[in-house]
Amino acid sequence: MNLVLIGAPGSGKGTLANALSKKFNLVHISTGDLLRDEINNQTKLGVIAKELIKKGDFVSDDLIIKMVENRLREKTGNGFILDGFPRTINQFNIMDKSIKIDKAIYLDVDQNTIIERLSSRLICPICKTVYSSKKYYKDYCENCGTKLQIREDDNIDSIQSRLTIFENQTKPIVDCFRKQNKLLVLEGDISPEETLRKVEKALNEVKN
Ligand code: AMP
Repeated sequence: MNLVLIGAPGSGKGTLANALSKKFNLVHISTGDLLRDEINNQTKLGVIAKELIKKGDFVSDDLIIKMVENRLREKTGNGFILDGFPRTINQFNIMDKSIKIDKAIYLDVDQNTIIERLSSRLICPICKTVYSSKKYYKDYCENCGTKLQIREDDNIDSIQSRLTIFENQTKPIVDCFRKQNKLLVLEGDISPEETLRKVEKALNEVKN
């Protein structure tokens, strides 16, 4: 089973992808995480990506597609979850020609909730667990003990720019999946447990 997660930054894609990958033995492929690995390893792609990501701009479609194709060649498990890809209509069209997708899940969360979440987001750089500094008062990840970080692009200028880019460039993809009858929309600010329950129900229908 191959899934795509679509949603504005801070809509909860990463958290949902983590839960789904465990539940259904799917490989979680986050293009944002792959790019941050490239940055940490100071590769050629990492050097290009660093400044773009900091400002909230997109990395070019060509570089992203090459990176995703390389990652898909290594995949194992019962399928994969693409988190953060496709993010433009061009990426969708290229993906549509060569990658089979069973379901796309769109997390539709309002902008005020997103701004509040991103402004208090803490991330574990190792296991990628997401915390809110408003609810979690420790400096270390409760799963793996790693020191938590604030993402460099979680500043208000970059957040605003990423939300605008999402509306203009990524949201149109939702309709592409709708036309293909593959779309599941999860509206509003429902709990992670409720989100997971709804997704599982829809995915069991795909499997049967
Ligand atoms: P994310 O962790 O998904 O929020 O991604 C962080 C940043 O990586 C984004 O703001 C973009 O700068 C870049 N990025 C991630 N995925 C893509 C993509 N599919 N196309 C272009 N840029 C991307």
